[in-house]
Amino acid sequence: MYQVLIGLGSNLQDPVAQIKRAMNTLSAHSHITLIKHSSLYSSLPQGPQDQNTFINAVICISTTLAPQQLLQVLQSIEQDHGRIKTRHWGERCIDLDILFIDQLTLHLKTPDLVVPHPHALTRDFVLIPALEIMPLWKLPNGELLASALHNCLQHDLKKIDDTASDLTAQA
Ligand code: AMP
Repeated sequence: MYQVLIGLGSNLQDPVAQIKRAMNTLSAHSHITLIKHSSLYSSLPQGPQDQNTFINAVICISTTLAPQQLLQVLQSIEQDHGRIKTRHWGERCIDLDILFIDQLTLHLKTPDLVVPHPHALTRDFVLIPALEIMPLWKLPNGELLASALHNCLQHDLKKIDDTASDLTAQA
């Protein structure tokens, strides 16, 4: 059993609903317990700018699934939401990323899974929601995760006024 932070992002087809639906699907999984979810945030797209604003959130789960099994669960949820790959860093119904496992102690580098996620520490739309729910998680050098904030690319992140009240765990 270990704890995993998962990043969620969407900018198509009612992004808030897409994020909540994915959170609820994950928390209903028999091998996953939703521990905490962040607020929802809006962020400007990275990459192509001719696309909608994104909605982002981060959740903390505990699971008995192996990381590769968890990745398969995330990918099957992406498929269920009708995700079709368009262009690099392009629009998407839902994007689910494994960010960190057991604080940042578990490191993996396989062809289809890299943990910590290679961009997790350089994106404000990942790091700020992650810090909201796990402010005491640390980097491998012992410093708080928050110390990575100054390296983050800014995407005009804004907390949006949505309580996510129909979700199972409390932020
Ligand atoms: P994306 O465009 O972000 O959806 O990238 C999806 C690809 O990233 C998939 O082929 C995954 O196998 C790969 N990938 C590598 N590391 C991770 C990770 N930590 N979380 C999610 N997908 C990952």
